[in-house]
Parts: sequence; structure tokens; C-alpha cells
Amino acid sequence: MNKIKMVTPLVEMDGDEMTRILWQMIKDELLIPFIDLKTEYYDLGLEERNRTNDQVTVDSANATKKYGVAVKCATITPNAARMTEYNLKEMWKSPNGTIRAMLDGTVFRAPIVVKGIEPNVKTWKKPITIARHAYGDVYKATEMKIPGAGKAELVYTAEDGTETRELIHNFTGAGVIQGQHNLCDSIESFAHSCFKYALDTKQDLWFATKDTISKKYDHTFKDIFAEIFEKDYKDAFEKAGITYFYTLIDDAVARVMKSEGGYIWACKNYDGDVMSDMISSAFGSLAMMTSVLVSPNGYYEYEAAHGTVQRHYYKHLKGEETSTNSVATIFAWSGALRKRGELDNTKELVDFADALEKACISTIESGKMTKDLALITTIENPTVLNSKDFILAIREELEKHIR
Ligand code: NAP
Ligand code: MG
Repeated sequence: MNKIKMVTPLVEMDGDEMTRILWQMIKDELLIPFIDLKTEYYDLGLEERNRTNDQVTVDSANATKKYGVAVKCATITPNAARMTEYNLKEMWKSPNGTIRAMLDGTVFRAPIVVKGIEPNVKTWKKPITIARHAYGDVYKATEMKIPGAGKAELVYTAEDGTETRELIHNFTGAGVIQGQHNLCDSIESFAHSCFKYALDTKQDLWFATKDTISKKYDHTFKDIFAEIFEKDYKDAFEKAGITYFYTLIDDAVARVMKSEGGYIWACKNYDGDVMSDMISSAFGSLAMMTSVLVSPNGYYEYEAAHGTVQRHYYKHLKGEETSTNSVATIFAWSGALRKRGELDNTKELVDFADALEKACISTIESGKMTKDLALITTIENPTVLNSKDFILAIREELEKHIR
């Protein structure tokens, strides 16, 4: 068989622990036999980040700006225990945080839906993708405890010294206050990323805030989305047959629970934090969640939503068998390959990405799965496979799909 050719390399960001083991197996069994795989490789494993003083993370983000599409393995975010485990020079920052800051992107998280792993919400038939705004609000708030009676105000001092004041409250007793902020630039980037991704995936976009109560703060979010939509995306949405839908956050929550799914739900920072955990657990498994960082400049970085699966890695190191689910990591690769194929006009690469995803789904639907899924599936008597055999079972399916 002739291997599929690639025009532009993918930026490959390797990672840590069990997902690093899966990463190599995926390349060896599911990619290299079928594709003339072109990647620019960056090792974001913790040892290499430590050796390079985290320069490798910065380099990988710059490469993503150069080439446009990256695929990332899960990586350790160091804490005190990792400092000793890896003998680190410094408690390096989360690579995802560094990359996100450099690409100025929004993270979209979507569940992989298969028959046999049923969502807890009966009406959900299609995935619901959460887009979380990743800047500001309560995550960058300043807070104060008010000890007793007194006046609290918001004060803005312009560069020329002019002050604008708003009364927060005339306290007669003890209480608390909080100052939140956001930036129009950041909200605009968020809006562009959401509209672009909706067009890319041909899904409706929902957005919700509490603008009836927060007439300046939340209303600004609503207005910015509306202006950008009118100006830059309305026609393209019409052509694509998709809609932009704005509503109040409580109405959105009620509608989500009664919907079929199949749309992108853009959330303010806090709403996204809370709702993404609700969506992912209600869809069944963290091991079946994909994640893609989309920058307003059109850069994409694909990964699994889960971490490095440390507990399984320690078993693996002891020589014990593991049954770690590789589906989200495989979908990171298929997502990146599909996007690369679309940008380069290589249909074979797009078709391969589709076939790879179908192979994962049909493997599970045929009853072959890893332990995490076997515990929650409605399929009777599933076959539980170890990490490697599951990937080999997918390969068998893949060969059927591409023949
Ligand atoms: P985790 O790796 O997501 O795993 C938590 C638990 O979820 C696992 O112990 C396992 O449960 C289950 N699980 C997750 N993914 C699975 C898979 N693919 N197959 C089967 N089971 C899976 O989270 P963590 O253990 O809290 O974090 C480990 C490391 O990952 C940390 O150092 C953290 O910094 C890092 N992390 C990285 C990213 C990222 O790079 N995007 C994201 C999150 C965390 P059982 O043990 O019950 O089988
Ligand atoms: Mg959270």
C-alpha cells in the first residue's frame, strides 16, 4: 500500500507518563503504517522541559504559530511532589497555560459519542461542545473583607487623573466585596474563536450571560458577540446553514438539558468551569473527551482532555498490565491530521482521519474496550482489552475501513 503523503508537518508535542506510552503505540500501530508522517517534534516531557528551562514549550508554541496545527500529548503540571520525583530546578508552569497564553486561544471540549456508552441525559444524541472563555472575571478578581460599617466604592482613575466612582454599598455591618474585570480584546478574541470554530465544524453556536442583571459587565459580552457576528460572520453562517443563538444563562442551562446536543456552547469563564465538568461527567468518561485550542489567528492545537493517567503509569512501571483508554489521544491525532489535510487540500489525509475515528468507534461498539468503558457500558459481556491490545483491535478495524 502506498502511504499517504503530507505536505506540511504537524507540530508534535510529546508528553508524560502513561499517555507518553500510548503516544508511541498510536504512532507505531495506527499512523506510521498508513501515513508518511511528517512532524516537527517537540518533547514536552517534564525531563526535557526541566533540562531546557521550559524553552521547549515556548519553542513548540512558536512552531504552532509557524505551521498552524499542533497535536499534544498530556503533560505533567509540576507540584511539590513532582519537584522531588523529577528533581526539578523550578516548579515549571503548566505547558497548556504557556501555550494558551502565547496563542491567545479558546479551548473547545467535546465528548466522543458511541453506542453503548450512553449519556446520563436521555435526550442527548449528539456531542455538546463547551467553549470556555479563559480570561478574567472571578479568576482575576480582587476581594476584600469589610469589617464593619463604612462605604465601599468602585474607583477608576483615568491616565489624566480623572476619577469615576460608583457606590458598591453603604455598609452598616460586616460584609465582603469583590472587584472583577475583563478586557474587550480578550472577549473579542473569544468571540472570533467561537464563530470560526462553529463554521469549521458546521455546528450552531450558543452563547449566554446574565445581561438582564449585569447591565454593563455581562451586557458588554453580549454586545461584542452581536457586533462581531453581524460584521464578520452572519453571511458565512447563513451559507453554512448554522445559527448563532444568544440567551440568558439560566435559560441556556434549561434548554441544554432538553436538547439533542450537536452545538457549541460558549461560556463565560466561570460558567465554562462549572458546565464543562457537568457535560463531561454526564456524557460518561473523561477518557472520551477531546480538546482543541483554537486561536483567533487560526492556529489549532489538539489534545485529549484527560491528564497523564499517573496511576496506570506506575502500574506499567511495575510491569503490571494496564487498560488505559487511548481514544481521546487518537482523536487528538485525527483532529490534527484532518485540519492539516483541509488546510493543505490533501483529501486522503482527511479521509484517513475520518476512517481512524470510525475505527475507534466501531471497535468499542463491537464490544472491545478498555476497563474504564467496560465499567459503564450498556453492551453486554464486553471484552476488556489491555492498552496495547485495544490499539491493535482499532488497527484491525482501521484496515477494514481504508481497504
Ligand atoms: P488524569 O490523568 O486525567 O487521571 C485521573 C483518573 O481518571 C485516572 O487515574 C483514571 O482513573 C481516569 N482516567 C483518565 N484518563 C483515562 C484514560 N485515558 N483511560 C482510563 N482511565 C483514565 O488526572 P490526574 O491523575 O489527576 O493527573 C495526572 C497528571 O496529569 C498530573 O500531573 C496533571 O498535572 C496532569 N494533567 C495534564 C493535563 C493536560 O496535559 N492537558 C490535564 C489534566 C491533568 P482510575 O485510576 O480510576 O483508572
Ligand atoms: Mg473545574
